[in-house]
Amino acid sequence: MTYRVTVQIHFCYGHRLLDYEGACAHPHGHNGLVEIALESQTLDHRGMVFDFGDVKRDVKAWIDATMDHQMILRHDDPLVAWLEEQGEPLLTMDDNPTAENIARAIYDHVRGAGYPVSSVKLWETPTSHATYSG
Ligand SMILES: [Zn+2]
Repeated sequence: MTYRVTVQIHFCYGHRLLDYEGACAHPHGHNGLVEIALESQTLDHRGMVFDFGDVKRDVKAWIDATMDHQMILRHDDPLVAWLEEQGEPLLTMDDNPTAENIARAIYDHVRGAGYPVSSVKLWETPTSHATYSG
């Protein structure tokens, strides 16, 4: 028996992908939707896997502080130095800032915060998403 609950969080981000040919090779933005699934075999004394409100507040606060309206770039992207010089907000990652890698970063944070996360799905557009499940 497994219970699963999912919370959705909307955020906006910019990125560009290196070593890639296609629209995402150029700086641009997405209206992202992240779906965080938590799973448990048992329920707490309230009959819940986890309180939606708690998860949403915690994770949304972290996403707002680290990713929302940020330019997300690979650490060795030449734009990093220029954006830093301009004082523009940015987030760097070890790997290309694909939907897959952003989903993994969110998963790692949520797991590290102690939530029983089973998967993180990032919708980059209304028709394309990537899922990371640890
Ligand atoms: Zn893109």
